[in-house]
Amino acid sequence: MPTYILGRPSRRLPALTDEVRRGRPLRITEYGEPILHRACRPVTEFGAARWGRLIDDMFTTMWIAEGCGLAANQVDVDAQLFVYDLTDEAGDRHVGHAFNPRIETMTALFGTQSGTEGCLSVPGANAALPRPARATLHAYDVDGRPFTLDASGYFARCLIHETQHLSGTVYVDHLTPAARARALADSNAERATVLEQRATRQRLLTKP
Ligand code: ZN
Repeated sequence: MPTYILGRPSRRLPALTDEVRRGRPLRITEYGEPILHRACRPVTEFGAARWGRLIDDMFTTMWIAEGCGLAANQVDVDAQLFVYDLTDEAGDRHVGHAFNPRIETMTALFGTQSGTEGCLSVPGANAALPRPARATLHAYDVDGRPFTLDASGYFARCLIHETQHLSGTVYVDHLTPAARARALADSNAERATVLEQRATRQRLLTKP
C-alpha cells in the first residue's frame, strides 16, 4: 500500500499525521454561506511561516470530520488552497496540499466515472455524480514550487471536487434541481447527528 505525498512516492505515514496532531480544529462552513459560492483569491506569497499553521489546522479539521479533502473556503479562509488525505481503490494513500490548483481532465480521451459524492459542507448528504475518469492537477506547494500530478478514479474525483470549491462550486450545484433539493433535505435531517459525530471525534483527538 504505497503512500504518495504531492504525487511522489513516500515513506508510510501514520493514520494520525504530524499535521493532524499539531493543528487546531476549525469550524467548517456550510452550503449557503457566501464564501463557498464565490471564487477564492489566488495566493501570491508562499512559505511555511505564512501557511504552515493553516495547513495543519485544515488537516486536523478534515481528520475530525472524516473527509478526504478540504478547501480553504470550507474553513472560512479566502485563499486558493486545499488539502487531501485519502486511500484510493487500489489501497494507495495520497496526501498533500495544493495552492492555486488547475485541473485538466481530457474527458474526450479518458471518459467519465460514475460514483457518489459527498461534501463536509453539506453534512450527511451524498448523491450520484458522474465525473471525469482522470485528472491532471497543476498546482504549487507551500514553498511556491510548481508541481503536476496525474490521478484517476476516486483520487481524481477528490482533486476535481476540491479545485471546484476554490472557484465557488459545490458538488450539489452540478445536480438536477430535484436531486439537489433531495441532498439538501437529507443534510437538514442528518446535520445534527453528523456534527455530534465530529464533536465526539474531536474529543478523541484531545485525549492525552
Ligand atoms: Zn466539498
